[in-house]
Amino acid sequence: MMTVLLDNGHGGLINGLYQTKGKQVRWKDNEVFYEGEFNRAIVNGIMQELTKLQIPYINLVPEHQDISLRTRVKRANNYAGIPCFYLSIHANAGGGAGAEFFTSPGDTKSDAIASRFGEAFQQEFPNDRLRTDYSDGDLDKEARFYVLTKTKMPAVLTESFFMDNYTEYKNYLSTSAGRMRIVDYHVAAIQRINNELFKKR
Ligand SMILES: [Zn+2]
Repeated sequence: MMTVLLDNGHGGLINGLYQTKGKQVRWKDNEVFYEGEFNRAIVNGIMQELTKLQIPYINLVPEHQDISLRTRVKRANNYAGIPCFYLSIHANAGGGAGAEFFTSPGDTKSDAIASRFGEAFQQEFPNDRLRTDYSDGDLDKEARFYVLTKTKMPAVLTESFFMDNYTEYKNYLSTSAGRMRIVDYHVAAIQRINNELFKKR
């Protein structure tokens, strides 16, 4: 049995105060989207489903504080000895649409895991874009890569939709129905990864 190491990117809300600089979008009417709150909601949804499916998981960041990337990686690497993979949950920004799936370079198991997420995303959202060109060069990527390169197990980071895309914000990121579908595609991918990539032959 494989264990999913779940990481929700950035900080959450503590007494209404967002714990992360940036990583938020203020829309008209003062509606604000906080990425770290979304990431936590998705991880919580994934945990509920994995509990039902009896697939083991660890929540690496149960806090609402914005835990440093170094600490996140350190926590993940405590599990390096068991069959597991690291999964970091994010929403994208920077002008664009659809989803992106990042892996640590040169690790074939990470690639196989990432393609399961890509396929599950396409199945759940057939009319949305699966971005395979990672060429928008935003500064954040380096930080994202840190958790992918320093973790000792296969590692994948999912970017589900763009928080600064109003259609995606309205249709998916800010609604419970949309969030449920984002949870569902992650869980569908995790089931396939568990069955196809971690079962002993
Ligand atoms: Zn993020």
